[in-house]
Amino acid sequence: MARRSPARVRADALARSQTTGAPAEAIPGLSPRGRFAVARLERERYWPGAAAEALRAWSLFLRDPWHRLFDPAESCGVMLCCPDPAELREILHAVAHVLPRKDARALRRRVGELEDLW
Ligand SMILES: [Zn+2]
Repeated sequence: MARRSPARVRADALARSQTTGAPAEAIPGLSPRGRFAVARLERERYWPGAAAEALRAWSLFLRDPWHRLFDPAESCGVMLCCPDPAELREILHAVAHVLPRKDARALRRRVGELEDLW
C-alpha cells in the first residue's frame, strides 16, 4: 500500500482537530505556570491551542523531505497544511519568551532539535 503523503496526513490531522471539539491542545511537558502563561499569551495574541499547533506544524513541516521546496506564496493558509515558517518561528519565539525559565529552556531545546532538520 502506498504511503500517505505528508499533505494527506496533515489534512487528516486538521480535520480531526476541527471535528472533535476537544479542548485546545497544549504543549506537553509544561509546568502548570508555563501552561498558564501560554494560555494567557494565546488569549491575548493568538488563538486557543496556537502554541501546540505551531510546534506540531513546525515538526510536520521540517520532517517533510520536501519542505525546502515549499513556497509560502502558494500556501493555502492552513497552518497544519501549508505553514509559514516565519509565522511559526514568530509564535514559538513569543511562547518561549513568556514561559518560566525551565519550560523555556525545554521548549527551545525541542525547537532547536527541529531546526537541525532544516
Ligand atoms: Zn495547504
